[in-house]
Amino acid sequence: MTERGLLIVLSGPSGVGKGTVREAVFKDPETKFEYSISMTTRKPREGEVDGVDYYFRSREEFEKAISDGKMLEYAEYVGNYYGTPLDYVEERLNSGVDIFLEIEIQGAMQVKKRMPEGVFIFLTPPDLAELKSRLIGRGTETLDVVEARMKTAKEEIEMMASYDYAVVNDVVLDAVRKIKGIVETEHLKTERVIHRYQNMLEEI
Ligand code: 5GP
Repeated sequence: MTERGLLIVLSGPSGVGKGTVREAVFKDPETKFEYSISMTTRKPREGEVDGVDYYFRSREEFEKAISDGKMLEYAEYVGNYYGTPLDYVEERLNSGVDIFLEIEIQGAMQVKKRMPEGVFIFLTPPDLAELKSRLIGRGTETLDVVEARMKTAKEEIEMMASYDYAVVNDVVLDAVRKIKGIVETEHLKTERVIHRYQNMLEEI
């Protein structure tokens, strides 16, 4: 029987750099896990490709996918839907492949309810001042918007306790190394390994 793959969920407050860390994880040719491409109703940014960066869909299509039970999780974030198609994740996990999700916090909490056996990794900012400068640095937001995002970020950081691991995103490649270390360690958990020895034990 194929051992089911691990579901790895990377999440964290907005502006913490989840996307950058995810890109670095998959740039590494040694990465063995697969990325689950999300569905979204936001418009593609320059250079983004449908079916590679996201599945770009209309609100109607997204809402139909929800009502058909085809989403593992979804959330509305800054006026757009984002979500993880369920079939792909199930199919790959059943084939023994580790699947990596990079999603915001509400979605991660839904996954935790449905698949508590997943590995939940929280990416944290080195400090709140750094987070603030990233939120400001993103573009043209007014101070009010930045303050509102900081408030959300604070609330989100308090969610850390619901995760299995916390990884600080100070140096991207360090964060990548830590994430890979977590996945490697998870594979060594006795509950994942023990069944391989069961047959041998029976023979003895
Ligand atoms: P962006 O629009 O910058 O690509 O992504 C915005 C936010 O949506 C990021 O925090 C990203 O982690 C999150 N996100 C991307 N895909 C998904 C998804 O499938 N589900 C959820 N819940 N969040 C997602």
